[in-house]
Amino acid sequence: MRSAVYKKAGQVGIEEIKRPSIQETDDVIIRVVRACVCGSDLWSYRNPDIKAGHKNSGHEAIGIVEEVGEAVTTVKPGDFVIAPFTHGCGECDACRAGYDGTCDRHIGTNWSGGVQAEYIRFHFANWALVKIPGQPSDYSEGMLKSLLTLADVMPTGYHAARVANVQKGDKVVVIGDGAVGQCAVIAAKMRGASQIILMSRHEDRQQMALESGATAVVAERGEEGIAKVREILGGGADAALECVGTEAAVEQALGVLHNGGRMGIVGVPHYNNRALGSTFAQNISVAGGAASATTYDKQFLLKAVLDGDINPGRVFTSSYKLKDIDQAYKAMDERKTIKSMIVMD
Ligand SMILES: [Zn+2]
Ligand SMILES: [Zn+2]
Repeated sequence: MRSAVYKKAGQVGIEEIKRPSIQETDDVIIRVVRACVCGSDLWSYRNPDIKAGHKNSGHEAIGIVEEVGEAVTTVKPGDFVIAPFTHGCGECDACRAGYDGTCDRHIGTNWSGGVQAEYIRFHFANWALVKIPGQPSDYSEGMLKSLLTLADVMPTGYHAARVANVQKGDKVVVIGDGAVGQCAVIAAKMRGASQIILMSRHEDRQQMALESGATAVVAERGEEGIAKVREILGGGADAALECVGTEAAVEQALGVLHNGGRMGIVGVPHYNNRALGSTFAQNISVAGGAASATTYDKQFLLKAVLDGDINPGRVFTSSYKLKDIDQAYKAMDERKTIKSMIVMD
């Protein structure tokens, strides 16, 4: 089968590799129907130390179940499923508290990889996979896009709002105008925020957020951006959703909050010098981590997509064939597209 592999920094190609097979009793083999490139894949793509032939870090897909291990009771061959980026067990304390993105039992094995390929082996599949009614042919391309976001970016945006405890009437600021930031806007609206400000300098991304429920956009950054937000809100925000993963984004989030405000972090941190205690003087609550994709999908996100209540699929502003994977990465790297979808033959 064909799979995307990194060739060198800034280049991805396709290689013929062995098709995956069942190894554990709760494995499922999935024929990928749609996959995509994640902002987090760009860290591998840009890595100057990447070795030729390194497996792709893709981790978001929807597809058809081909084969199931003998312990799998929840799906059968032919079922259409969301393959979330996480593999919670559904039974441990973390999963039962709604934190399956950091399942207590699957530490170090909870995330997918290599999903930009024709087939994948999905481990710990019994609870983690999410069944979609019907078959891909029952859905429009726009609906398939929204279903694909349920593998990562929509639950991740939702997670930011959930851990920041966004509630009805809250004033919310979203830091990051990529796919996750866009989904965080949708999530803040779902949870009843009265004002939602997206920090963004790109007109197309500002427009998308305004269509999804943002009430204002702020293009300025740093102190200027903080002042602008405070002017619009008439004070600090109740919640800030950090969807980037840089220290500058964390500073921005902390800066827009009123004392006692709440920050939700879902940008994978590329910093490690933010000390516990640095938020003490402002009484800020800080929470965040990997999203609970399976939990949110099963509880309400899949229904919200199927009912047409939300349209997170609009973050896919370009589509590519698997053979054009290099362009799919490049377009995101150069910020020519918000998120690239991969359409399998
Ligand atoms: Zn991702
Ligand atoms: Zn678990």
